[in-house]
Amino acid sequence: MTTGQLIIGLTIRNSTARQIGNYRSEVQGDLAARIQERGYSVRIYDEQGTSGADLSKRKIALGMLEDLRTGVIHGIGALDVKRLTRDEFGVDGALIARRIVEAGGRFHTWDREYNLRLEDDLLQFQFQCFIAGIDWRNIRNTLWSGIFKKLEKEPLYMKTPLGYHNVAGEDGKKHVAKDPDQAHVIERLAELFDEHDTLAQIVRILNSQGPQRPAFRGRGGDSTRWHVYGLRYILNNGIYVGTYSFGDKLTQRSTVWDKFAIDPLTRQPKTFAQHRPDLAYWEPARVRRWQRKFAKPANARIMKGTASEHLLLGVLECVSCGARMIGHGPGTYACPAVGSGRGRRGLACAEPQLIVENVALQILRQELPRAMANVQGLAEAARNHLTTREPSAAAQRMAYLEERRDVLAEQVINDEELGLALVPQLKKVQAEISALQQQVAEEEDARLDDAALEKTCAILLDSPLDAFDRLPVARQARVYCILFANVRIGVAGFAASRQWHLQQYLARIGDELRLTTDAPWARKPNPRAKLPEGVTHNVLIFDEITGPTLATDISARAYDRYLGSLGSLAGALAA
Ligand SMILES: [Zn+2]
Repeated sequence: MTTGQLIIGLTIRNSTARQIGNYRSEVQGDLAARIQERGYSVRIYDEQGTSGADLSKRKIALGMLEDLRTGVIHGIGALDVKRLTRDEFGVDGALIARRIVEAGGRFHTWDREYNLRLEDDLLQFQFQCFIAGIDWRNIRNTLWSGIFKKLEKEPLYMKTPLGYHNVAGEDGKKHVAKDPDQAHVIERLAELFDEHDTLAQIVRILNSQGPQRPAFRGRGGDSTRWHVYGLRYILNNGIYVGTYSFGDKLTQRSTVWDKFAIDPLTRQPKTFAQHRPDLAYWEPARVRRWQRKFAKPANARIMKGTASEHLLLGVLECVSCGARMIGHGPGTYACPAVGSGRGRRGLACAEPQLIVENVALQILRQELPRAMANVQGLAEAARNHLTTREPSAAAQRMAYLEERRDVLAEQVINDEELGLALVPQLKKVQAEISALQQQVAEEEDARLDDAALEKTCAILLDSPLDAFDRLPVARQARVYCILFANVRIGVAGFAASRQWHLQQYLARIGDELRLTTDAPWARKPNPRAKLPEGVTHNVLIFDEITGPTLATDISARAYDRYLGSLGSLAGALAA
């Protein structure tokens, strides 16, 4: 039933993966039979699932054209021209037509066989390509004009960012809103952004302690794991402070922008921006602070170990060799040399120390008043520096310029001739406003920083230690981690008569190494002793301190180096 010599290349394609295997491709399969009935062999070029209007991105189609050129096939078939090309400029159609003509002119559709070497047939073919282009353009234009129209009014996401979802409004259409089910995740993120110094640390904590990342569809399927780039995306996405923008980060814009999204005044592509306080989770100043912090990981001051149940990881050192102690079973810390006698980098330790977390916590609690006295000295100094800020000159000037811009803009719109002349003026004013916006934002930051500092100071100066004692243990440990490092706890005696005392530590706030020879010794109560009600054998008894223990006065020191730590400390103390 075929000539056996002449082969027609038949493309089978649908534009999206979703259409694969539906009736359309079956119909295209029937076309093969039809072409065979016309006396040809058929070679199938299966392009299913390939998208892209641009022929140059369709590898299989390009292969088919190459086969046509080299004589492997002798013509082309397609259900209709639309299936062959969707190029809005007709370039692909012209190119395909030329190849077909050179190869003998055979082009098959469902309806008929064309000979593109004949003027009439070629014209028909070209016309259909043209129509296909327009057709496609219309579909696309309808889609995009709808999208741009919506962008003028409200934020629009194909995939909503973490913390948001699309919900049907009273108008029956979908709108972006905060997702109350994810609010706890956003809240936890803010805590972690406040308290930690690198995003990698935060990712580790999130992946081990939760909350899980709400499931999202990534390249490898659904995932609930956290990644640094995901956190960075959140930090840089304006929607979390209530500013939605679209298009400002695009480096390339397709032709639809020229058609629908050109600012009539500046002739520049629009950037769509919406101010939506109802979608904000965080203060802009707070986010800017995070951005500054995480942009410079070198600033990391407070190193915390990997997330685990060891609350004091990174705080304790082996008293005999000075190595940083590691977790050694639940609630216990050990010199890394424990067992082998050799620790990190082969460092030997004569007497690898083991210590129970509960003991270390109590030893630190004993020192806490002195550490806090220092902090309060700094907070006092910081508070004395706080000033009341007047509304700035920049803010006033910006307000004036904004008014001027609005007047100008009105004239530009209402008076065509004068308006054109005013456009450069308008641009100049706008540029100045943009420059001032930056300055005003920074001033606002400083003001908010002051307000935050005032709050921090108030918490640090007013929070009595019995409030600290009411905090959960994990929170208390966080306070210790902020205040103490290089803690060495000396030990004396054996078994039931064992005693502990604080030998040295680094006061993180103030960066002062303290040798605490005056710290009292502590021991556990006699196991056979009858204890007052509510007291357990785990509670240490400290010796009486002879003479006063004086905190160093560090209030003269520059407090601004410690603002981050002071803030974290206040955050940990405020229940
Ligand atoms: Zn050691």
